[in-house]
Amino acid sequence: MKNDTELQQFLEKITAFANKTGIAYRTGDIYGGLAGFWDFGPIGVEIKNRIKDAWWTDFVRNRDDIVGYEGAIITHPKVWEASGHLSSFTDPLIFCEGKCKKKHRLDHLIEDHLNIKTEDLSLEEMGELVNQKKLLCTDCGGVLGKPITFNLMFNTQVGPVKDTSSIAYLRPENAQLIFSGFRNVIDSTRLKMPFGIAQSGIVFRNEISPRNFLFRVREYELMEFEYFTNPEKINDCPDFDTVSQINVNIYSREEQTPKFTSEYLTMNIQEAWEKKIFKNKWQAYWLAICNNWFTQKLGIDEKKLRLRQHQKEELSHYALDTWDIEYNYLFGWKELLGCANRTQFDLEQHHNLSKHKMEFSETDEKGVKRYIPYVVAEPSVGLGRILLTVLADGYQEETVRNRKRVVLKIHPRIAPFDVAVFPLQKKPQIIEIANRIFVTLREEGFTVKYDDSGSIGKRYRRHDEIGTPFCITVDFESIEDNYVTVRERDSMNQTRLRIENLIQELRNLQKKFTK
Ligand code: ATP
Repeated sequence: MKNDTELQQFLEKITAFANKTGIAYRTGDIYGGLAGFWDFGPIGVEIKNRIKDAWWTDFVRNRDDIVGYEGAIITHPKVWEASGHLSSFTDPLIFCEGKCKKKHRLDHLIEDHLNIKTEDLSLEEMGELVNQKKLLCTDCGGVLGKPITFNLMFNTQVGPVKDTSSIAYLRPENAQLIFSGFRNVIDSTRLKMPFGIAQSGIVFRNEISPRNFLFRVREYELMEFEYFTNPEKINDCPDFDTVSQINVNIYSREEQTPKFTSEYLTMNIQEAWEKKIFKNKWQAYWLAICNNWFTQKLGIDEKKLRLRQHQKEELSHYALDTWDIEYNYLFGWKELLGCANRTQFDLEQHHNLSKHKMEFSETDEKGVKRYIPYVVAEPSVGLGRILLTVLADGYQEETVRNRKRVVLKIHPRIAPFDVAVFPLQKKPQIIEIANRIFVTLREEGFTVKYDDSGSIGKRYRRHDEIGTPFCITVDFESIEDNYVTVRERDSMNQTRLRIENLIQELRNLQKKFTK
């Protein structure tokens, strides 16, 4: 982890970069911004949509065992009573009693300023630590008050009459919509166990201290799915062989003790399973798939990812075992994706409170069996957090022939444009060819940017910065020989290619991409 100044400088740099390139801006910027809320600009929207589309394609559209769902944002209050969020979706909060009166998230304050892990500590123990260590407000140096718990759910009033019966909540997770809609899904489909239900959508969390740019915000898009099995078959994972040789970096509970000095142990999933590091085979399977998705499909550096098991005291009220896929950000190893084993907890809660049967029926040679399905894994990840991660992972400053260039080395699959087309000059014959290439590539499904302003060098730099992986330049020779120059963003290699082969050549280059 960098020191506070270096970290601050990096965050300022990446935020300014995001602003300048049209990735993200503070919401209501002209009025000073609103903490924890961000708007996405023209480039940010493209990258975000492509990440989301990649997720939906790989985890829903291209799988036979996962279906989609889209629940309402404002949710029936009983849903949150059953799920336990009304009583347990809380974070520890402490107020500054000095000049600034700032509210701090207590666990983060202790971790960042006393360098003590808080997973095992109760609210009272954290309060005692503040007194013992004489921890003061980090903003004004004032004395800190008594810690309290704070519920993170935003609420609103539904309808014209404002009273307690009209209170409803903005969902803090998608999962509960999937659980409360479970009966409807199984009644209206012909799903066979095991299966998953996925949802991507905006959630709201009234975070005490939003920070680190897109890392901790109050409104974000969450992509998650619940994977259900028969409770007696949580280790029947027929596809396990397809992931068994995938290498992952593991940081289990045992490794999170002082005698282990390394940040993780690398092994394949088969080895980890044999060492009994995971509690159920499906959870191991999904962690391998998700880790692989980040490295192979989004191009994130595998050395900067690890699977960290939650400490017992850290587990959410619904989870039997949870693993996070963490990324090594400049502010340390932090959660990128969470994957909880939620057992039968949520469906049982809705079964009991709603009086609607949340059972699944299966017929075998012995007859009909009914059971409440078991959630072996819930891979859950914030879209903005992925965006921040690919920015942090791909942002590079390089010096090329004594000139500085900023380049965003992101996977072509999630780049804002597949390719940019530049006419070298505004000569009619050159423009005619550049236009023809532009239209043909679009018709073939490429996202293309036509760019004819400024010198070629400036155009390259503009596209390096936003991560466009390939640029095509049409020049005078193209008129004669039907060849154009294709320049690759990362290597800056330039190759002359025949116009009629461009589509195939670009597809090959996209497939070949490695970081
Ligand atoms: P934390 O303990 O850090 O507050 P959490 O463990 O409650 O977070 P989860 O419920 O596991 O978070 O959230 C699922 C995913 O949603 C996370 O892995 C992360 O990608 C994303 N996420 C969670 N909180 C935020 C936030 N405030 N801003 C942006 N993304 C978030």
